[in-house]
Formats: sequence, structure tokens, C-alpha cells
Amino acid sequence: MKVVKFGGSSLATGAQLEKVFKIVSSDPERTVVVVSAPGKRNAEDTKVTDLLINCAKQYLLFGEAPELVESIVSRYADIADELGLSNDVIDLIRSDLCQLLEGDQQDPSRYIDSIKASGEDHHAKLVAAYFRHQGADAYYVSPKDAGLFVTSEPGNAQVQPESYQNLSKLKKQQGIIIFPGFFGFNHHGDMITFSRSGSDITGSILANALKADLYENFTDVDAVYSVNPSIVSNPKEIRELTYREMRELSYAGFSVFHDEALIPAYRANIPVQIKNTNNPDAEGTTVVPKRDSTNGPVVGIASDSGFCSIYISKYLMNREIGFGRRVLQILEDDRLTYEHIPSGIDDITIILRQDQMDETIENRIMKRIKDELDADEVTVEHHIALVMVVGQAMRHNVGTTARATKALSDAQVNIEMINQGSSEVSIMFGVKEAQEKQAVHALYNAFFEKALI
Ligand code: ASP
Repeated sequence: MKVVKFGGSSLATGAQLEKVFKIVSSDPERTVVVVSAPGKRNAEDTKVTDLLINCAKQYLLFGEAPELVESIVSRYADIADELGLSNDVIDLIRSDLCQLLEGDQQDPSRYIDSIKASGEDHHAKLVAAYFRHQGADAYYVSPKDAGLFVTSEPGNAQVQPESYQNLSKLKKQQGIIIFPGFFGFNHHGDMITFSRSGSDITGSILANALKADLYENFTDVDAVYSVNPSIVSNPKEIRELTYREMRELSYAGFSVFHDEALIPAYRANIPVQIKNTNNPDAEGTTVVPKRDSTNGPVVGIASDSGFCSIYISKYLMNREIGFGRRVLQILEDDRLTYEHIPSGIDDITIILRQDQMDETIENRIMKRIKDELDADEVTVEHHIALVMVVGQAMRHNVGTTARATKALSDAQVNIEMINQGSSEVSIMFGVKEAQEKQAVHALYNAFFEKALI
């Protein structure tokens, strides 16, 4: 059997739902369908999830948000009208939403989270109603009834291990299951969401629990591209890549598939296929445990901005016991996560996501590092972009780094830092944000436009 997940743009209008129904009904193995909330209908549109977040915030401030409630409900009503569905499902969505909005507001982030989660919950009910209207034996399944339990951190839920056993029981059910993505329940019965775009995670959890043969992830592009198409036009499509490669690419800006979503599928060895709802005959991209590396050492170039780096230097740092631990303890005390730590004998650079740090936190950390660790120099650099060259075959290939650095130097890109993980799946270059695009172009040209060795 296959678990099939559809993203928000695949479910934004009645016409899109018709495509979804065709795709699901064309293959009897597609028995579990995971849905997102309605996404953008065009570039200027707003996702229902974002409308819901605003609505919850307004409710917290003013105790009402009539216009937002109407615009949310009308998004579903427009779809139902387009498909000729009765009003029953819209009445249900309206009353569910109003009931949630009147819910307990004592913990605002949990309150907002429950409203935010409802976008997929409502849509799963609507999609199930439409599938039944088309004569299919389809029904909505609530994550609560199915036992999808998660931790209690709003917007960053992690699946609880017992969920897999609970969800495996869905295997016995007949017909097509329509399951809302993006959230589960904690043990107190609160709806808690995964991080944004987390419906991919739900699909992967279900694929693992049901030991699916394939997890199909339908979105709005024909494939995963080897580079961001908004930076390089008409880039090469990737046919096949490994979990590790996909993880590295989605970490550094490839938003086509959520980076956390790979883990459950990976653990159960289930291939993940990225496909296009608007062009289902296109081959798509398959993520597999292992692949033949016949197409060169590099599979993709990714980049992401919004990083900063803390540079610490101290003479004889390499001989000082516990230096690294004490630096990291200072970060931990401020609940900061780090991304990379390239280091030398007398210095270390810690790369972090900028949005975790405001000026106060930054000053506090700098002072502590200087005072408590007696560092010779501590500096912070902002506006760093990370550019990743990804490909598992580079470990058996001589000269990949040389080619990359030559391409960057020919393009006059100044490399601020370079890091190659011990797994040799990727090489990371830190560059100034202003040079990010230049760097990506140069690397793409070097590995994809010129003849491969
Ligand atoms: N609707 C949610 C979001 O916009 C989750 C998802 O689409 O996967 O983040």
C-alpha cells in the first residue's frame, strides 16, 4: 500500500481537489491520504494556516475576529461550492472553528497552536466528503482516535514512540483513509502542531507505522531540482537521491520536503517519492536508502541565509581541557542551538541561526565567553549564508572540494569558512549573504553545466 500526502497548493481549489481524487482513485494501493490545509491559490494569496494564526491572535486580543472567521470559512465554502457539495460539511467546519476559538486561552501558544492545527482537520473532513460524493469509500480519521500522540511543545511537536503501534491498527480498516496532516495530540488531549510544513511529517509517520511500500508526496513541482530554480533558471531535475542527500539539501533551503519528515520513512526503509499534482505523469524524484552514483559526485547545490557566526580565539585552546564544553554550555544556558563548528588549534567558529539571538542575548553571550573563558578575541559576524554542495559520491571522488573552491574563486566569491562533515555527504561554504547567489551560480556551473569528470 502507499501513503499519499498532498500539500496545500494541491488542495487550494475545487479544481485541485478533482486532480487529487483522480490521482488517488487511479491506483488502488493509495489507501491512506494525508492532507494539508488549503494553501495559496495564486502568488498573492494567503495560506489558510496563516489566516488561522492571525485569527487566533486577534481572538486573544479582542475576543472576536468576525472578518477572519468569515474569510477562513469561505475558503472551504468556495471549494465545496465548486465541487457541488452540500453545506453540511461547511456548517461542521464553522461550528468546530468557533468552538475552538472559544476554547481555553490560559496558555496562548497552545491556544494558537490548536487553531492553527484545525486548518488540516477541517480540510480532511471536506476532502473525505468530496471523495464520498464521488462514490469512493473514503472517511476522515481523527489523529486523536488513531492515537497519534506527540510531545507538548507547540509548533515543534515530536512524535511519541507509542504512536507507531497505535497507527499500525489503521491497516485493518477498509476503504480510503483521509488523515489530517501537521498535528497530533498530547496526553492531555491538546492539539499540538509539528513545525511549519509539517504535514510531510505526518505522512512519513503513517508510512512507517503502516509499513507502506511507498510514501508519495504530491506537491507543485515536477521534481526536486539540483539547485533553487529562483536562483538558476531551468535547473537539472534530480531523479534519485539518498535520505542523507535529501536531508542535507532540505536543511539548506530545499523547501520541497520537510527535513524532519525523512526520519520515520528512513527508519522503516520506505522510499519517498516527490510528485507533481498538476503533472502526475512526470517521473518525480525518489528518495532511497542507497543509490548508484553514476551521475557525478554532486547531486545538488543548496543555500540558505540568516546565519551568524561567533568567532572565538584563544592561544593554546587545543590544550585546554573542557574549552569546547564550556562554550557550548554558555549557548545552552540561553537555549541556543548551533549548526556547525569549524575549528582550528587556537580558534573555533560557531554558526547559529540569527533569528534565535537578539542584541541582549548576543551581548550577554559575548561577555560570558570573554570573561569566563578568558578568550583573546570574540567577534560576531552577521548576514552569513551557507552554501552546501551535496552528493554522497564525493567521498570516492578526488578533487570535488578543489573544483568547488576554484569555481568560487573564479567568481570572486570570498569564502568565510568551509566545513566538510566527516560523512562526506556535503561540503559547506560560509559566504556573505550578498554573495550567496553568485556562489550558487558558480557552483552550479562548475558541477552541472561543465562536463563531468
Ligand atoms: N498547513 C501547514 C503549514 O502551512 C502545514 C503544511 O502545509 O504542511 O505550515
